[in-house]
Order: sequence, then structure tokens, then C-alpha cells
Amino acid sequence: MQVSKIDIKLCLRFFAESLRPMNQRELFFRHVAQTSDAPLAIEIASASGAVLTAVDGKKYIDLIGGISVCNIGHCHPAVVKAICDQSEKYLHVLVYGEMIQSPQVEYASLLAANLPSSLNSVYFTNSGAEATEGAMKLAKRFTGKTGIIGFKNAYHGSTQGALSIIGDEYWRNAFRPLLPDVLHLEYNDFSSIEMISDRTAAVFAETVQAESGVSSPTAEWMQALRKRCDETGALLILDEIQAGFGRTGTLWAFEQFGIEPDILLLGKALGAGMPLGAFVAKQEIMSALMANPVLGHITTFGGHPVSCAAGLAGFKALLSEQLIEAVSEKSAIFRSKLIHPAILEVRSAGLLMSIVFKDFTTNKKVIDLCLENGLLTDWFLFAPHCMRIAPPLNIDRSQIQEACAIIINAIGQLD
Ligand code: PLP
Repeated sequence: MQVSKIDIKLCLRFFAESLRPMNQRELFFRHVAQTSDAPLAIEIASASGAVLTAVDGKKYIDLIGGISVCNIGHCHPAVVKAICDQSEKYLHVLVYGEMIQSPQVEYASLLAANLPSSLNSVYFTNSGAEATEGAMKLAKRFTGKTGIIGFKNAYHGSTQGALSIIGDEYWRNAFRPLLPDVLHLEYNDFSSIEMISDRTAAVFAETVQAESGVSSPTAEWMQALRKRCDETGALLILDEIQAGFGRTGTLWAFEQFGIEPDILLLGKALGAGMPLGAFVAKQEIMSALMANPVLGHITTFGGHPVSCAAGLAGFKALLSEQLIEAVSEKSAIFRSKLIHPAILEVRSAGLLMSIVFKDFTTNKKVIDLCLENGLLTDWFLFAPHCMRIAPPLNIDRSQIQEACAIIINAIGQLD
């Protein structure tokens, strides 16, 4: 067999190519596990306030805030300082609950001081889904019952238990078998409440369903839900992982319904940019995790001191910087600017907002054009025709105006 000069050249080029160090983008696709064929793949250099900066220098107004995480903005100086200070003292010391770690103690105490007195015991987890899991276990242990109720279009996380109670069959089905004894009812529907029975351990409800494209229940329905849980002995578990921390215009969205949950789920903005979740209950309920078996819920890293220090600093900033007070006014600016025949509806619960388009294709084109023009938005898991608006609460008014102009301009470019 003769080897031509061309073959040798090709081999050399291939060899040289294989020696070339791969750039971050190539390494990202090769070694970081992918869960979709279309990640945004923007290489981030830095983030501050409501702006992300890519390595090529391009700036993006962030309209999704890490999916309702960065309520006080990216890299808030007080949070960065708290992280640095805590890192110099200690990092992980021991599994959850053994040592007295002041960031945990102080954050749990401050949360309790800003919650109804019945919610006085905080179990810190690493994520929202783990808070859902812990709460589900706690409800079973406390009530001695097994039935769990979730709602259609609800999202509570992606682990097996949380997946079992989310309200969308497309996202659940491939992972069966899931938890038994789970019922999915219509959200904000009075007749479905009758299905809650004395076999029900827990009813999980979001205070605003985000992933359905922002659906708010009526206060009357939430009150009826509370009443039915009281009548049957089921624990009412409200998920504020996305709606909490001022996003809907009050510190906690449940305040707007005049009810209190038995267990509250927190996450996302809880850690001010660091991984942290929590389920919160009164001590009498929480103590069900102390016996039969002891250590009823275990986590190695839950309530990590650096995450708690960050969350504590972030929560203090949220309370002191009048961010929540400005939510409804900022939401109104969005609503007043987002007017176009292609926009079928703008739904909002404060700064948890959704622009409803006729279909996913339209929404995706607008999202892509926005991205080209320096605006980061997204769609919702169960509502792909809806564009997500959930910016840092400290987005300034001129950034809102600019963001809306980019969206309206993008819509104008549709065929
Ligand atoms: N609950 C709600 C309402 C959420 O929006 C999410 C995440 O989007 C979760 C639970 C799960 O949180 P995590 O992704 O931190 O597990």
C-alpha cells in the first residue's frame, strides 16, 4: 500500500489538532454532562447586579436572575464579603446537626423572626428538591399517614420523590416507577379539595405556580385548602422556593392569602447565590425526625456554613435595601411597556412574570433575538410558549425600559 503525501499531511494535521489544547467551549461540551442539545453555552466572565458579562465582553441584562435565585442581584458585595469571611474561619466540619455553627444558627433565627411564630424550626438542605424530599418524609413521620397530594402543573424538584409529586406527566413518565399513593389534583379548583382525606399525610402546593407560566391561586382557594387540611389532619406544605424572598411583592407569597403553612419550603434566593434549601416547621412537627429512626433525615453538606453565611448576608440586604417595596412598581413598568399584538397576555405575581405568545416557535425566536441583543430570558418548563421574566429585584428602572425595548424590537423582527 502506497502512502501519498496528501495522506501524510492529513495525518499530521489530525495529530496537530489532537495536541491543540481545547478551549472552554469544547471542554464544556466534551466533559460537562449535557441534558439538552441546545444549552446557551455563553462563557461567563463576571456578573454584577442585573448584568452578566461574557468572556468576549458582551453584556446581558439578566431577566431571569438564575431562575429566581439572584433576588438581591449577582455578587452582592455583602454576600461576597460574608463568603470570604466565613471561608477563612471554617468550611465543612461535620454532618448536619452535630456542631453549633454560627452562620446556621443566626440564619435560622433571623428566618424564624421573619416568619409566623409557628414556623420556628429550620432544617437546612443543599437544594430545593431536597427540601421537598425532607418535608415529604417529615409529613409521613408526623402524621403516620402515607397519602401525598400534589397539583397539576406544579414543580417541586427533579429527584425521585419530588418528581413523583410534580404535575406534568411528560416530565414524570420516563422515570416510573415513582412514589405510590400520590394524587394530582387541579390547582385553584374548589372541587378538587374534596379529594384530601384522612388518609392524606401532606398537600404540596406552590403559592404561585411558576413553571406553568405563572399562575396565582385566589386567596379564597388557598384558605379553603388550609381549612380542608385542618379538617383532615393533613399537613399543608407550601413551596416558596421560587416565589419567596420578596419576588411576588411581599416577603412570603403566602402572606397574601391570609394563611400559614404547616411546613414551608425554601430554596433558590435563600442562599443569595450559594446552594441552600430549607424546610421550616414548628418544633413539635420537626421533632418527629428525632426518633424511630433517630436521624430521620441526614445530609452531609446541608446548611453548609459558607452557604448560610452568604444567605444570611443576602437576607439582611433584602430586608434593608427596600427591594421588596419596589417590586409592584417595577412589575407595573414591565406591564406598561410590554404591549404588542403578538403578546397575548402578561401574567405577573410581582416580579415573577410571564409573556404569553401563541406558540413555542414564536417565543423561541423572540428569546434568541433578545439574546443576540444582550438580554437573557427563558421559557417555562410546562409552558414553552411563555417567556420568563424574573429579574434580580434590584434591576433598575432604566434596565427595565431597555429590556422591554429589546423584547418589543425582537417581536417586530418576527416574520
Ligand atoms: N420548587 C420550585 C417551585 C422550584 O421552582 C424548584 C426549582 O426550580 C424546586 C422546587 C427545586 O429546587 P432545586 O432546583 O434547587 O432542587
